[in-house]
Amino acid sequence: MATWFATHALLPEGLAHDVEFSERDGMFTSVRAGVVDSRAERLAGIVLPGMANCHSHAFHRALRGRTHDQGGTFWTWRERMYDVARRLDPESYYRLARGVYAEMVLAGYTSVGEFHYVHHQPSGRPYADPNAMAGALAAAAADAGIRLTLLDTCYLAGGLTAAGHQPVDAVQQRFADADVDAWAARVEQLRPTSGMRVGAAIHSVRAVPREAVPTAVAVAGARPLHVHLSEQPAENEACLAYYGCTPTELLDGAGAFGATTTAVHATHLRPTDVATLGSAGVTACFCPTTERDLADGIGPAAALRDAGARLSIGSDQHAVIDAFEEVRAVELDERLATLRRGTLSPTDLLAVATAHDSLGWPDAGRLAVGARADLVAVRLDSVRTAGIDPAQVVFAAGAADVDTVVVDGAVVVSGGAHRLGPVGPLLGEASGALR
Ligand SMILES: [Zn+2]
Repeated sequence: MATWFATHALLPEGLAHDVEFSERDGMFTSVRAGVVDSRAERLAGIVLPGMANCHSHAFHRALRGRTHDQGGTFWTWRERMYDVARRLDPESYYRLARGVYAEMVLAGYTSVGEFHYVHHQPSGRPYADPNAMAGALAAAAADAGIRLTLLDTCYLAGGLTAAGHQPVDAVQQRFADADVDAWAARVEQLRPTSGMRVGAAIHSVRAVPREAVPTAVAVAGARPLHVHLSEQPAENEACLAYYGCTPTELLDGAGAFGATTTAVHATHLRPTDVATLGSAGVTACFCPTTERDLADGIGPAAALRDAGARLSIGSDQHAVIDAFEEVRAVELDERLATLRRGTLSPTDLLAVATAHDSLGWPDAGRLAVGARADLVAVRLDSVRTAGIDPAQVVFAAGAADVDTVVVDGAVVVSGGAHRLGPVGPLLGEASGALR
């Protein structure tokens, strides 16, 4: 049982003042505004709900600031990424992911969806525990104090061309299970815990042939199902050349879309694709700091929303881990693409950043009685935030302005410091060990 007090807080009904929060067993038991004589612990600045990082590949963090020297393309970046992937083992992945997840909490994220595909030994043979890598990620998340949704990823083919799917190469073999049934059997061995949910992912139409999609959908069941969708034009071209349809049409025809589905990126879509995703009520997960880093393009966020899709954000390859920069980029990219301001308001953006449903945590992301007791206190006296309207904090703050983070009632970040201690050295050592 704990209580906190905030001068400003963004409650479901809007900006409120002098708010006292009480928590028991990780859930809010009371949230009251206009409290004049609170003796609860005072939090800095403005309190926001916890934010959800809905798309992560933790190991990509080792590439930050290391892929910009020779230009290149998404596909040459992917070669660098494979260089790191081939070096990982459960111990080194635990150390790196612990630092990455701690960096996320420092930035105000309280849940993460890990799109996990580095399953096996480099040779492709399973570890003695076939889910050893998943176990490393779960331990890392628990130590870093973030809720984890492990999206175990089906990965069966090395790519797609007009001639069909290619076999996996020497690096990709550790991503792949023998077939979709072997993947399904391994996923069935994963067990959720109080801080971890299990979901499923289809890597992409490049890595999963159409005939395997219905099995992946059945494995997911009512749990989250995520899929990379049309991040690059080359994926669309290969899919059109081999299957004669867009990736959206292929996945829709195979039954992959519903209210528990998340389409990640959803960048290069036809208007008919947008309508399909919207009418199915999928979540479209935008990763703008990655999409600009990889020269992917700008996805149709507002069009998807207007068609009925929900929106979420992810930091994906972690070129940047900053929930504020990530979510305001959804609106700022719309401005660049449409020459119009204000398609998504500050309130709209906060709703996008705090949407935990697509990770299977529908009771998180609200400062309200009965919701998970997540709090993110953001300073309003830094050089970035001094003088702003607190209701527009999402357009001014950065990760460095996060002062306190509470996850399920536990204080994980206080005074801008993580309970693990300095996170920079953890990240430096863990990524250095992979070079
Ligand atoms: Zn991704």
